[in-house]
Amino acid sequence: MARFAGRVERAGYGLVLSPMFEDVGVFERVGEGTDVVRKEMYDFEDKGGRHLALRPEGTASVVRAYVQHRPRPPFKAWYVAPNFRYERPQAGRFRQHHQVGVEALGTDDADLDVEVVALAWSVCRDLGLTRVDLLLNSLGDDACRPAYLDLLRSYLAERVDLLCDEHSSRALDNPLRVLDCKRPACREATADAPQMLEHLCEPCRAHFDRVLAGLRALAVPVRLEPRLVRGLDYYTRTTFELAASALDSAQNAVGGGGRYDKLAEALGGPPTTGIGFGMGIERLLLACDAEGVFPVPEGAVEVYIVDTTDGAAAILVTAELREAGIGADRAFDRRSMKAQFKQADRSGARLAVVVGEREAAAATVTLRDMRSGDQEVVPRADLVDHVRKRLS
Ligand SMILES: [Zn+2]
Ligand SMILES: [Zn+2]
Repeated sequence: MARFAGRVERAGYGLVLSPMFEDVGVFERVGEGTDVVRKEMYDFEDKGGRHLALRPEGTASVVRAYVQHRPRPPFKAWYVAPNFRYERPQAGRFRQHHQVGVEALGTDDADLDVEVVALAWSVCRDLGLTRVDLLLNSLGDDACRPAYLDLLRSYLAERVDLLCDEHSSRALDNPLRVLDCKRPACREATADAPQMLEHLCEPCRAHFDRVLAGLRALAVPVRLEPRLVRGLDYYTRTTFELAASALDSAQNAVGGGGRYDKLAEALGGPPTTGIGFGMGIERLLLACDAEGVFPVPEGAVEVYIVDTTDGAAAILVTAELREAGIGADRAFDRRSMKAQFKQADRSGARLAVVVGEREAAAATVTLRDMRSGDQEVVPRADLVDHVRKRLS
């Protein structure tokens, strides 16, 4: 979390806290015809008879807030928030899960796509994940997608009998979903299906080429994935997903996102282009687990106070160090020196400040380097200076 926040804030994204629920219409307008909204939304009526829904995904609320408050574009925001779905929990899927993400609204510059995709990629790398594929596709726009969908529909119409049970009846309503289907029947039947990437109009093509070139310049490895259509209707042009190959293939998406140039309008705002991504925290942790990489929290605690007198010194020393901007923690419950050093070890602190009877009497403290074991007795009054010197 802290790493995610640091990375996106350095890129100019500010924290947005959006409410946990919205009028059900916000999500319905956004995701009609998708599973997330049709089957899985956690909706209910409140005491005033309003029909509300717990947020099923992160983007709609941020865009709704943008439409309502109209900040000056480009508007770059990040969030961390719980999402909800009403379904039986299963491995890797929870009724409440948590998502981090970014949204950037107000420009359709392809360089912004490069920035957003590269950010998502860096987050995985920051966690130490190495077996993650970045899948990329373009979904075109109003100029080129309708003709492509017609083409895909007529391709599927000839093969309806070959599709899986779910899609043999519904293939023509939402033909993109058939491409996304993981069942072998649909996979085989669509092996030679026409691909959006081959039917982009000139501006969409140029946009996609620029995104590709930017990502290559940043050495972000990209795999083109024509089957990548994602579940929500409002995506246009760039769409991407991060797939962890260490996880089971049905549940391996640790994050994804894309452009949604028509979403603000769908929510009653002026035409506003936008792009973003969301990542599931629980899925990311499962992927870390599966790869055997456990991101050790970066040492917020730099100094651990070991006080074997009555603990009164620890109150003052901890406060003094924290005021000086140094991360400091201490033991409680007046434990033995050995137990306190064990806690100091676990805290990841680089330095221990030891206050014993001898130090207290002489108005000194002992500084101990937790790695080398080096010790030094310094005057209590100069503590902060000595700690700073050792940490620098
Ligand atoms: Zn299918
Ligand atoms: Zn187009």
